Amino acid sequence: MNSSQALSKLMEGNNRYVETGRNDSVFGKEYLKDLAENGQHPFACVICCADSRVVPENIFSVNIGEIFTIRNAGNVIDNAEVGSAEYAALHLHVPLILVLGHTKCGAVQAALSGNDEGNIGYIASRIKKELGGETDPRICSARNAVHGANTLKESPILSKLISEEKLRIAVALYDVDTGKVSF
Ligand SMILES: [Zn+2]
Repeated sequence: MNSSQALSKLMEGNNRYVETGRNDSVFGKEYLKDLAENGQHPFACVICCADSRVVPENIFSVNIGEIFTIRNAGNVIDNAEVGSAEYAALHLHVPLILVLGHTKCGAVQAALSGNDEGNIGYIASRIKKELGGETDPRICSARNAVHGANTLKESPILSKLISEEKLRIAVALYDVDTGKVSF
């Protein structure tokens, strides 16, 4: 699968999810056994927030084993996240990495309100740095995702794969009200 096909598969899955409000992928014991015996072959890597409403497998109507997901509050991209993305691209050969921000993000709200409690403060300050004074939460979520994608592109491993046209990095925004992903 190439990056365009991977992107289309995600978009089509999201359209079905928006229509039906559920993940229509088929899970099953045989499928579990096959994955365990033959290993994982995900077609995309998705980096998104830990928000319990933002479950990428459901949003894109895919089965287990189909997307390699990296999640934390606010989809902050630090060394561990870049390393995970490098693993997905280099060893699992995913042709697409999608950084997925979302509306009504608590981490973005924390950045906007200047929350500095414990390590929440770390996440908030990391996000705030990239907002450039923007105060609209939706735009801030999009900006945070774009910044994440730019951070990934600084990885020599990922940028090499991009230059070889083996990898594409995309950005999208998930609307928690409608279930719709805007690419
Ligand atoms: Zn969030």
